Amino acid sequence: MAIHKLFLLPGDGIGTEVMAEVARFIDWFSSRGIATFEAEQGLVGGSAYDAHGKAISDADMALANAADAVIFGAVGGPKWDDVPYEKRPEAGLLRLRKDLALFANLRPAICYPALADSSSLKRHLVEGLDLLIVRELTGGVYFGEPKTITDLGNGQKRAIDTQVYDTYEIDRIARVAFDLARTRSNKVASSEKRNVMKSGVLWHEVVSQVHAESYPDVELEHVLADNCGMQLVRNPKQYDVIVTDNLFGDMLSDVAAMLTGSLGMLPSASLGAPDEQSGRRKSLYEPVHGSAPDIAGQNLANPIAMIASFAMALRYSLGMGDWAGKVEDAISRTLDKGIRTSDIMQDGMTQVGTTQMADAILHELEAIA
Ligand code: NAD
Repeated sequence: MAIHKLFLLPGDGIGTEVMAEVARFIDWFSSRGIATFEAEQGLVGGSAYDAHGKAISDADMALANAADAVIFGAVGGPKWDDVPYEKRPEAGLLRLRKDLALFANLRPAICYPALADSSSLKRHLVEGLDLLIVRELTGGVYFGEPKTITDLGNGQKRAIDTQVYDTYEIDRIARVAFDLARTRSNKVASSEKRNVMKSGVLWHEVVSQVHAESYPDVELEHVLADNCGMQLVRNPKQYDVIVTDNLFGDMLSDVAAMLTGSLGMLPSASLGAPDEQSGRRKSLYEPVHGSAPDIAGQNLANPIAMIASFAMALRYSLGMGDWAGKVEDAISRTLDKGIRTSDIMQDGMTQVGTTQMADAILHELEAIA
């Protein structure tokens, strides 16, 4: 049996609490002989700063590089608000993304039937929603140079950000989206603003070319990013996979996220290019939420986003897609039974803490397995 090398980085605040629950899932798989994991644990964010004076140590970066998948909790908290900018907790996450060259960010928006009433949209619009936003993560306007604020000397300043994309960056993210679509409903919507942006013109051209050359079997639609935002709140179920750049992806994925209810429910994955020899992609899996200092240490955090992120690692990095589906099923069944953490509590349901929610999901997994 293959040995899966996991590197766990719990981080700060509720990151450590939700990661402790993932560790129980790892033990569950191991103790039943379903998979063999070699799980190491490191420090990131404020806890790494306290121990090493930086947001992630070189030794932990080496372990992250060698892992089949990095599982990341959350970083930050008021204790580290005043540490130097380059050592702030988020710098650990940014270094991981940069050094592992994680250019593809996958954010699923899944609406569990039991939670459809918590959405800001009507039940029939979101019930059964299952879409995936594939966001380009390492290019575009967040990184393009020049990036400056210049004093014009007349009481005015000028701010410049640069939106820049090369063909290869669009080509590789498009391939990730088309490959994923083939494992789902075989439909991709590519979103940009080619009507007003040159980067949108090139984006449209390259995605169309990749489609024609390599993925003619996948249905492709082009949608302007502003229209895409509107369509997401009008009729989100029309989409399966949406591929878009860093800036639009940042916004569209947050819009899609809120269709499904709480921050505590949202997993994500970030993938790099496949290794030429092994075909293995570097990868990092993390919940979308932060370290939630307001509820940390009280057994209040919802562990579902973290557990669902672990399920994504099973699917995308460890070749255990069937088990990922079972974990997701176990989450759905737990919610069907009315078990809720406080962030998703509704009238007539049973409120539980972090550990009890994970207990309930493990119990359902045991029943499905
Ligand atoms: P947050 O996501 O930590 O919390 C926002 C709100 O959602 C809070 O009220 C919190 O209690 C609630 N919440 C979040 N996750 C939850 C969960 N799993 N279960 C129940 N409730 C949950 O965002 P914030 O308050 O803006 O930031 C807090 C800290 O986290 C800051 O230091 C910020 O920099 C950091 N942060 C880190 C990441 C990351 O590690 N990727 C992301 C966002 C924010």
